[in-house]
Amino acid sequence: MRRPRLSVRARLALWHAGVLILIVCLFSAGIFVFVRGSLFAGVDRQLARALETVDWVYHHEPEDIQDLPTESGIRLFRVVAGGKLFYQTESWERAELAQGLPGSAAPESWKSPDGRWYRVQVVTAPGYTIAAAVPEGARRDAIWTLVLILAAGIPLAAALALAGGYFLAGRALAPVGAMADKARRITADCLGERLPVANPQDEFGRLATVFNDTLSRLCDSFERLRRFTADASHELRTPLTAMRSVGEVALQRHLEPGKYREVIGSMLEEVQRLAHLVDSLLVLTRADSGAARTEREVVELSSFAGSVADNLRVLAEEKRQTLEVEPGARVEAACDPGILRLGLMNLLDNAIKFTPPGGAILVRARANGSGESHIEVQDTGPGIAPAHRERIFERFYRGDAGGNGNSPGAGLGLAIARWAVAANGGRIELESEESRGSLFRIVLPTASSGGTATRAPLSATARPG
Ligand code: ADP
Repeated sequence: MRRPRLSVRARLALWHAGVLILIVCLFSAGIFVFVRGSLFAGVDRQLARALETVDWVYHHEPEDIQDLPTESGIRLFRVVAGGKLFYQTESWERAELAQGLPGSAAPESWKSPDGRWYRVQVVTAPGYTIAAAVPEGARRDAIWTLVLILAAGIPLAAALALAGGYFLAGRALAPVGAMADKARRITADCLGERLPVANPQDEFGRLATVFNDTLSRLCDSFERLRRFTADASHELRTPLTAMRSVGEVALQRHLEPGKYREVIGSMLEEVQRLAHLVDSLLVLTRADSGAARTEREVVELSSFAGSVADNLRVLAEEKRQTLEVEPGARVEAACDPGILRLGLMNLLDNAIKFTPPGGAILVRARANGSGESHIEVQDTGPGIAPAHRERIFERFYRGDAGGNGNSPGAGLGLAIARWAVAANGGRIELESEESRGSLFRIVLPTASSGGTATRAPLSATARPG
């Protein structure tokens, strides 16, 4: 059977009491040893003085030895000379100290037959023996009283330590309770709420601050997700609405067979737009979840750029644009060619899309000599106004293009390009002059070693130039 776990408060109180009891026990033991030692040392000094006095009197004034108990208060002694009793005090006799007297020369505690305790010492010299004793009862009583006081103090200290510990732990843990109450009330709908921070410098304050930071990040993510979902639904609705109205109009009227083909063609165009949009959303969603893996390998960028440009050449030809790939030296970078292709295709697609018919698009790859390789896409399009340059890499942001009829896109191309380049450890820079064209530069670290596999999260280091 599992033991029920005690609360932190109870555990803290128990620990507190345990440690305090240990300290009180050690302290009490120390006091006991010290007091006992000093009391016995006092008795031993008294005993030594008595023996010295008896010895002196025995040698210098033996006839006065019976006055010693009254004159100097030495009531318990005995002198044996030449094997015969020379003198013993009345008290000595009464206390029956002679019986079973310890023979040791060091002071010893001895219990007389009547149950009293004495400290006894015997000094043996050639021809005589002096024994003296001092009653120990009062000292023993004092020691016992001390033991009783100390023993009674331990449970009292334990009770106080438990109660005090419980109270203190309760006060110290109060912020946790407040945080838990608040945290319980925070839901996805009210992520703007924050935990109370009483003192940001203490442990709970730091915990609450970290939690609040996490909440802020969560709140941002939720907000981005909401915006993304709203924007995506909006973008998905446009082609669907177009298809529905084209279909409805076609059904309401009787059309010639040729017109039906036109209607189907226009619907297919919308379907294609829809499919492209869904593909883009899928790429970004996978990028967000970190599910897209990059398999890096050494890629020669000039021929890579050439093959991507070849794929899109037909679009440029449709608009009578020149699409050139500038020949150059071999440039290598360690990247995932599949993901990088996605980025470059979006940049080239934009260049073709936004450059007016008859314009020119130039693609070049080169190394900048400081450990970075570049792929540049330059066009002679309308350029990008400074106000939009910072934001065109955001999802669904279309700058001026949304209104000028140039863009059939949803504003996801550059977001995908930025992710694709960042996933390969690079960034995108932008140079643009209004009415003169734009230059998008993919900057990648130059190849150093063989292939590696990493996850490609969207927290891109890429920044618009
Ligand atoms: P989309 O092309 O689908 O509109 P993008 O994310 O690719 O979305 O581009 C965002 C916006 O950046 C475009 O709508 C356009 O205003 C601007 N833009 C991108 N590339 C170019 C370019 N080569 N020339 C001019 N404007 C561009």
